[in-house]
Amino acid sequence: MSATATGFGGLVECEAWTRTRAAARPERLEAGVESLAGVGPALRSKLARLGLRTIRDLLEYRPRDYQRPLGETPIAHLFAEQEAAIAGIVRSTTVRKARGRLTIFKAVIEDDSGSVAATWFNQPWLEGRLVAGTPVRLRGVYRRRELHVKSYDVGEAAAATADFAPVYPASEELPAGRLRGLVERALERVRDVPDPLPAALKSDQALPLRRDALVALHKPRTLEEAESGRRRLAFDELLLLQLGIARSVREREASVAVALDPPGDLVARYRRALPFTLTEHQERAIGEIDADLRLTSPMQRLLQGDVGSGKTVVALYALLRAVESGRQGALMAPTETLAEQHFLTIESLCSELGVGVALHTGSVRGDLDADVLVGTHALIQEDVDLPRLAVAVVDEQHRFGVEQRRALVAGRSPHTLHMTATPIPRTLALTVYGDLAVSEIAEPPASRKPIVTAWVTAERSSDAYTRLRRHLDEGRQAYVVCPLIEESETSVARAAEVEAERLRRGELRDYRVGLLHGRLRPAERRELMARFKARELDVLVATTVIEVGVDVPNATIMIVQEADRFGLAQLHQLRGRVGRGADQSYCLLISRPREQLTDTAAERLEALVATTDGFELAEKDLELRGEGQLLGTRQSGLSDLRFTRLRADRELLERAREAARALVDLAGPLADEVEARFAAADIPA
Ligand code: ADP
Ligand code: MG
Repeated sequence: MSATATGFGGLVECEAWTRTRAAARPERLEAGVESLAGVGPALRSKLARLGLRTIRDLLEYRPRDYQRPLGETPIAHLFAEQEAAIAGIVRSTTVRKARGRLTIFKAVIEDDSGSVAATWFNQPWLEGRLVAGTPVRLRGVYRRRELHVKSYDVGEAAAATADFAPVYPASEELPAGRLRGLVERALERVRDVPDPLPAALKSDQALPLRRDALVALHKPRTLEEAESGRRRLAFDELLLLQLGIARSVREREASVAVALDPPGDLVARYRRALPFTLTEHQERAIGEIDADLRLTSPMQRLLQGDVGSGKTVVALYALLRAVESGRQGALMAPTETLAEQHFLTIESLCSELGVGVALHTGSVRGDLDADVLVGTHALIQEDVDLPRLAVAVVDEQHRFGVEQRRALVAGRSPHTLHMTATPIPRTLALTVYGDLAVSEIAEPPASRKPIVTAWVTAERSSDAYTRLRRHLDEGRQAYVVCPLIEESETSVARAAEVEAERLRRGELRDYRVGLLHGRLRPAERRELMARFKARELDVLVATTVIEVGVDVPNATIMIVQEADRFGLAQLHQLRGRVGRGADQSYCLLISRPREQLTDTAAERLEALVATTDGFELAEKDLELRGEGQLLGTRQSGLSDLRFTRLRADRELLERAREAARALVDLAGPLADEVEARFAAADIPA
């Protein structure tokens, strides 16, 4: 570390600046991207779609990769299937429209040794830029006598095609080369980047200046340089996170919960009333919860388990423990649909036990004195007072804002169980939820058959529907999921209506088709779900609102249209709607043709076909998406975990943890930054 810390490209420049520069002005980093010359409203909104709004966002945009070092190859020496860089002159060009929306731009490039056709996909505007006679430098893969261009420079200088040039995560509308130019211009303001770390810590840890780390990240001369820059930036974000966690742990240690009596008669009757015996994993989770409930420090436990693994059964146990101690339990779900589903499940069991349950949501006002309350965030409105609350279960906790979760516990200190069906890999859980204890239900009840998943491309979608109709003809039910491409909920609903109509006339002509989307009123939605459950409907066409909480064991097949548009975790959640009964269930993922998919989209679909294990998929997601986005919470300050590579950075994490313990009481720029981050962040309080 210390050896590379002095080797930064940025350091040299930085010494020059110290002589001439005015004081750093960090506020200038918050200027919008439009403050760069040439960035207008159109480009600004394209950047915004990548989450790039300010100069700081550009500076902190992590390259996905770097160009490998390559010498220039004479065109006559190009070798099949190899990546190469060439330099030459454009001789002639053509643009051709191919199938779909694909355009192919070709240019014949010539150097002293010979000529080659170079191809670009979907960049028709090149026609105006690469006119005959233009000198160019290209990098690409030589395949079937053509160079498939990956990056290019117009002119003789190497920038985009240079060795170790950064490759940024791009979008269809903003290619990597464009992003590179913008980041480069943002780097002109790098001297305004402040360094929040105390000097002593920096020298202890042999860390470079933050601004030098950013220069190294974007313009490394070697991969080692890039890596040590990344590590400094990762250290910063891990330290902030650990400081936030240290603070929330300290706040919690100051609060007091009611210690509950040991398990009694009510939960014993509950166990007997269940139509099955609990699995070993469920028993272990229950044991861990029981141990927490005995204490006066409030339980803060994360219960992780795949969809259908039996978490709700465990959650109800925790709620009943409150009831048998003469107190109240509350379950809070992020949507009304989900709250209603929970209510139906829980109520039928509770009425057998003589325990009162009430549903309390935005549209249904329940009796707030009931033993068990199920609801949405309506439970935490100001006029709701729950003095007897002893155990709170928060389902899909990552979907709530921190404010909402704070409000649930404000002024009370219930024992809290956070439930999630989107398992977080252990490494990430330890980092991000360092202040939560974790229980895992790693295996579903044994009677469950793993869902068979197949990936079919759009041209074979009629086969998928044939298969679906076969299930319907056997008296089974099905889901068809439409993608959520539009921005507003209203237009999604409209698109779903159009699609449902199309299916009613086409593939699902002879069947009873219902449509579920987020725009339905709660009463309509309840009625629709009840009809589906009662088998008055054969197929539920739905947007992603069925993602969680819907439980119809007779539904044995699901088609997901345009599955390549969904995230891995989301697809896994959707798939969990089938396979709820004892019969074999199927999930058919329909996508665009393979050659139109990005590599990661194809890998996501392959991963889903390969396994139904949510923990394994979570690891895969971590690998494909990087750690920041895994949290799936754009509103959360924690999505700022963008430089950390959890598996590689275990040791860095330990160092950050240790440093945080020493710094938790320190005031100054670092504390201010923690303050700023965690005001918005989604950390369980
Ligand atoms: P989750 O909340 O994790 O999605 P649930 O608690 O809703 O899972 O359980 C899914 C289904 O499995 C429910 O129908 C439930 O009754 C059933 N189930 C739960 N635990 C067991 C068990 N130990 N043995 C058999 N079935 C179980
Ligand atoms: Mg459930």
